[in-house]
Amino acid sequence: SDTNEPSKDEEKPPPLAGANVMNVILVAAECAPFSKTGFSSSTQTEDSETIFIGGLGDVAGALPKALARRGHRVMVVVPRYAEYEEAKDVGVRKRYKVAGQDMEVMYFHAYIDGVDFVFIDSPVFRHLSSNIYGGNRLDILKRMVLFCKAAVEVPWYVPCGGVCYGDGNLAFIANDWHTALLPVYLKAYYRDHGLMKYTRSVLVIHNIAHQGRGPVDDFSYVDLPGHYLDSFKLYDPVGGEHFNIFAAGLKAADRVLTVSHGYSWEVKTLEGGWGLHNIINENNWKFRGIVNGIDTKEWNPKFDIHLRSDGYTNYSLETLDVGKPQCKAALQKELGLPVRPDVPLIGFIGRLDHQKGVDLIAEAVPWMMSQDVQLVMLGTGRPDLEEVLRQMEHQYRDKARGWVGFSVKTAHRITAGADVLLMPSRFEPCGLNQLYAMNYGTIPVVHAVGGLRDTVQQFDPYSETGLGWTFDSAEAGKLIHALGNCLLTYREYKESWEGLQRRGMTQDLSWDNAAEKYEEVLVAAKYQW
Ligand code: ADP
Repeated sequence: SDTNEPSKDEEKPPPLAGANVMNVILVAAECAPFSKTGFSSSTQTEDSETIFIGGLGDVAGALPKALARRGHRVMVVVPRYAEYEEAKDVGVRKRYKVAGQDMEVMYFHAYIDGVDFVFIDSPVFRHLSSNIYGGNRLDILKRMVLFCKAAVEVPWYVPCGGVCYGDGNLAFIANDWHTALLPVYLKAYYRDHGLMKYTRSVLVIHNIAHQGRGPVDDFSYVDLPGHYLDSFKLYDPVGGEHFNIFAAGLKAADRVLTVSHGYSWEVKTLEGGWGLHNIINENNWKFRGIVNGIDTKEWNPKFDIHLRSDGYTNYSLETLDVGKPQCKAALQKELGLPVRPDVPLIGFIGRLDHQKGVDLIAEAVPWMMSQDVQLVMLGTGRPDLEEVLRQMEHQYRDKARGWVGFSVKTAHRITAGADVLLMPSRFEPCGLNQLYAMNYGTIPVVHAVGGLRDTVQQFDPYSETGLGWTFDSAEAGKLIHALGNCLLTYREYKESWEGLQRRGMTQDLSWDNAAEKYEEVLVAAKYQW
């Protein structure tokens, strides 16, 4: 009845895993849609680390389903931060020692879209849903210790559909420092004793800036044999000798993945490794980068539910020439900007902070406003940058909008209605907005770092190739130069522009594609002994 839903033939079944059917257990501190940070953008913790994750919850929500579609038996293990209606108590109780204290956990289970979701329940996780990483350093550390101890035992104690996973062709996927203890526990509690010999662990780096740092004494909390202490010790000029969970995880894991090739290169450098670059270089052979997929139902102009009202419309490659202008007009109208099809509409969506290069845009605004363009920026974060947005709107009422807030609907509408998306991030492990933009025929202008470098190839007018414009250092002048070329092409070379849009929209940015690469890594790790 609803022709806007994906039809059956659009969901072509991917090739099955065949002889390599695996048991895969992904362990993460957050998983969409149950738990996800990113919008509570700049939560300050006691040691005033700024928490910014965001992408992690999306990966944990999407990758397991894509692996399951390939024929694997897949489980996600996450803390039970709240009561999730779908998840039922499996009736298993276990006790774990954390900092000398016995803590009981219960396991909840739900089977959704072909994936087993196991939620680990303990009073220390409950009611954290709005602030997953809240509390002081030790609270967080103890939670992660309990979580990883409980998670590594899940294949033995938690029946899914009546049967435990066991360790037959089993691979764990751990994510970021929160679960970097899992590869260590797998080794120390099992493999060092000749158990779970063929179970491998892959550690995925979504963001290396957070590492679970603390004083060396923190070792007493992780409950490991003394000879493991060295693997946690790290020295750097800023922190001196300290305890570092990510360091130990990187050493213990069988494979390490970053969420793009560019990022896997950057974490090996002094600036990009945040103190871990030496360890990463020593373990270089384990490294590989795989670009995240995107949710191609939620972020698809053909099915996007946010384009079904207020004058917007769903569109696809076939209807791009009428659908996108209609969305642009609807956006201009909604924002109260002059409704003009010919004026290039430039967008920015993201956390307002140093990482995202919002200050570079601010520096470029006077130049932009001297051009015949419209600009809309959506974001929340640092108060001074929020003020920049408000100020910009105030000063350039007729051509600029600064929307301070978190609005998924508006993010979708800007992605559809804008012609150009700016992403001048200083660093970007993967980045999602440039992928969404390309899927909507919106041309990205990006700083060539991390995932942005991987996914946005510079337009070449001679060969008519490429996907957008890139610039090679985080400077306003470079941004202006790249954007200037982009605007010139928009105005003067309609066919080139349509080529850019077409190439962007026909890419396979799906998780099915990314899952195939994850599968390769999981299989390769199996044959390393
Ligand atoms: P990060 O995870 O570093 O914040 P990503 O580009 O990987 O950056 O993902 C950010 C996600 O958050 C995207 O889906 C983006 O659309 C969304 N987002 C960021 N800020 C906002 C906002 N103010 N309103 C709506 N969505 C936002």
